[in-house]
Amino acid sequence: MNVHAVLQVAQTALAEFVNSSEAKLEAQLLLQHALKVNRAWLIAHENDALQANIHAAYRALISRRLNGEPIAYILGVREFYGLQLKVTPDTLIPRPDTETLVEAALGNIPQNKIFCILDLGTGTGALALAIAKHRPHVTVTAVDASQAALNIAIENAQNLNINNVKFMLSDWFSALKNQKFDVIASNPPYIEQNDVHLKQGDLPWEPISALVAGQDGLDAIRHIIQHVQYYLNPHGWLLLEHGYNQAARVADLLNQAGFVEIIHLQDLAGMQRVTLGCYVVTNQP
Ligand code: GLN
Repeated sequence: MNVHAVLQVAQTALAEFVNSSEAKLEAQLLLQHALKVNRAWLIAHENDALQANIHAAYRALISRRLNGEPIAYILGVREFYGLQLKVTPDTLIPRPDTETLVEAALGNIPQNKIFCILDLGTGTGALALAIAKHRPHVTVTAVDASQAALNIAIENAQNLNINNVKFMLSDWFSALKNQKFDVIASNPPYIEQNDVHLKQGDLPWEPISALVAGQDGLDAIRHIIQHVQYYLNPHGWLLLEHGYNQAARVADLLNQAGFVEIIHLQDLAGMQRVTLGCYVVTNQP
């Protein structure tokens, strides 16, 4: 069978599982992965015969995908905010929704100020690395409670040659001592523990600790808001990603904790996905 025919068969099989444009793209991406070639090569070699061993390897990749395994884990990479990131089952797969959080953070980090930034629960390092890349003069501290995730984040920083991120093993603020930051951002777990979405799409394959935060999904966000005051400089900003239906509750929590200028930002689907507020007072631990 030639490349074109093999792609057609795979695309038809995948179309039972994802929509037709995704099926086409995924069929191509998985064949590129099996052949270790780029898209241009695939198009230029449509009529080439596929070697039997490559064809077998490709069929194995397609069956993994049909079994529900996320395409990002099969390929081992995901693009986020223009960065090619390594991802493994130890890390959440970065979502386009989180680009809203990057934009919001960049909007609060002036080009010319030496700010200290903190990313809580960095996972692949997506948020920290996107900020660090676009604000090379700032230092970003990125923490995660999972050493396995942190190892991936460190590898991503090295692969991307981004040198202004400091990685630390820390359960939220636990290892931060008295450090203070000007902007603290987080994409914490925020899904309700009984949410049906946990059984759908990529979610069953992702680390549960990166997804679920108690009965109402707000355990991690409550913890962050309760402790963040000790780590923010006066007039520092806290930016939180949250669930599509949590914006009002997150705003209430911020308001109760003394935050002002609270605003919501929408994701690409028009859902309120990020809430931020400014902390005017300083407290000592
Ligand atoms: N936004 C992801 C989802 O709903 C969840 C990520 C998270 O909990 N931070 O699939």
